[in-house]
Amino acid sequence: PAPPPPPPTQPRAHRDRNRRTVEAQMLRARDHYLRVLDDMPTLVRRLDRDGQCLNVNASWRTLTGIAADQALGDGWLRAIHPDDRDALAGDGEHEYRLMRADGGYAWIHEVTRPLKDQDGHDIGVLASGIDVTQSREFQEKLQQSNAELEQFAYVASHDMREPLRMINSYLGLIERRLGADLPAEIHEFLAFARDGAMRMDKLILDLLQYSRIGRMSAPRTMVDLNETLAEARANLGLAMAEQGAGIEAGALPTVFASPDDMLRLFQNLIANAIKYRQPGVPPQVVIAAQRQTGAWKIAVSDNGIGISREFFDRIFRIFQRLHGRDEHGGGSGIGLSICKKIVESHGGRIWVDSPGPNQGSVFSFTLPA
Ligand code: ADP
Repeated sequence: PAPPPPPPTQPRAHRDRNRRTVEAQMLRARDHYLRVLDDMPTLVRRLDRDGQCLNVNASWRTLTGIAADQALGDGWLRAIHPDDRDALAGDGEHEYRLMRADGGYAWIHEVTRPLKDQDGHDIGVLASGIDVTQSREFQEKLQQSNAELEQFAYVASHDMREPLRMINSYLGLIERRLGADLPAEIHEFLAFARDGAMRMDKLILDLLQYSRIGRMSAPRTMVDLNETLAEARANLGLAMAEQGAGIEAGALPTVFASPDDMLRLFQNLIANAIKYRQPGVPPQVVIAAQRQTGAWKIAVSDNGIGISREFFDRIFRIFQRLHGRDEHGGGSGIGLSICKKIVESHGGRIWVDSPGPNQGSVFSFTLPA
């Protein structure tokens, strides 16, 4: 083979001029890079391999009120909340408090990336962060008000049962004392009053149950939903036998969930499938699981009375019912709102489909896989 051609020779002056142009271009690029870094709202700091700060951008300096030369070396650490300094070690994402110029703290969400030289050796890290104080405060407030609301529902329902018990027992007492002398009509009135008190007690108990989901549920663990279904079936055995109901189920997955929440979810949906049957048609329930990306979708279908599209959302709201007290064995309208709260607290979603009245319903929910 022919020898490689000799490298092109250039006059020395020409070579120097080329090098100077490249150097000037690199300096300009560096200058642009630094300007962009300074103009960004993102807080940026660059550290060497030993965690010594090499530079911080203007956003960082403005927020902390610390001058560039004061931030160098270990200087930047002064602005980090003492309790959060350890959390900053290593690559990845961190959230920590950074002291503002006014002495208060800002929450920073930061991503750090290793910096390499041209040979791939570690030369330090580049950390870029954004101020997430507002969204954090908002989240905290939301959590707090949710907790307060649940606490309120819990306390209120607890305290309301006591006076109700009193009404109930005095109504009973009146009836017993005057029983023989009372006209039949008054007996009826008393029975209505007692019935009302009893229903109210049921509503309060339901509310109590609702407020307990999540807060008081059994801790999450791996739950085999085939076992959950078997348990739900056993609990509903009587109602199923009475109505000649059949359940057909495919293989169900194992999910990370609270076992008693799962039982209640299955039991509520199956109980509804039996309860909202068409007159004279034995209920047929079909349960099937389907794998989706990152989640399982589980569908509970029935051949019952179906639901009109306009009520698809409403039935999941607390105490919302589509039927009178005397139809379909009554109920307080809490079953599906409990299902919704359970599914959503597990990170899933629940919805209903139905072709229309008397054509059955399909309740579907997802759970993270
Ligand atoms: P409840 O059964 O106590 O009324 P739910 O919250 O369980 O409360 O259900 C709310 C409403 O949704 C019911 O009143 C009923 O009208 C409707 N519904 C629930 N499940 C079914 C079903 N499988 N088929 C038809 N309608 C249903």
